[in-house]
Amino acid sequence: MTTFADHIATAVRVHVDEPWRDRAACKGQGRVMDPPREQIQAARALGAERALWLKAKRLCWQCDVSDECLRWALSLPAREAHIGVCGGLTYEERLRLRRRQGALAALKKKESA
Ligand code: SF4
Repeated sequence: MTTFADHIATAVRVHVDEPWRDRAACKGQGRVMDPPREQIQAARALGAERALWLKAKRLCWQCDVSDECLRWALSLPAREAHIGVCGGLTYEERLRLRRRQGALAALKKKESA
């Protein structure tokens, strides 16, 4: 069985030593949190991709460390961040959030100049 630690460690090819990881609601659910690409494509073809991600997000919604997890996922370089659902958001949703954060930071900088 793929654990969340394995899933993250494999995905980003680094050892992730985050203390909050031990409290993850998705422990042992690596395949749910980060389904194989073929499974995602098959779900997309059937119009069931949202349902696939919802299964993962339900774990995040009851997770005590979702804030830490999301902060960590957002801190990853983009090339390493393609690791399924983290902190209740899919990779695409995290990308959108990063763009919004970047736009807000640029706006604040412009306003304070
Ligand atoms: S927020 Fe979601 S992905 Fe992150 S540790 Fe919790 S259950 Fe796992």
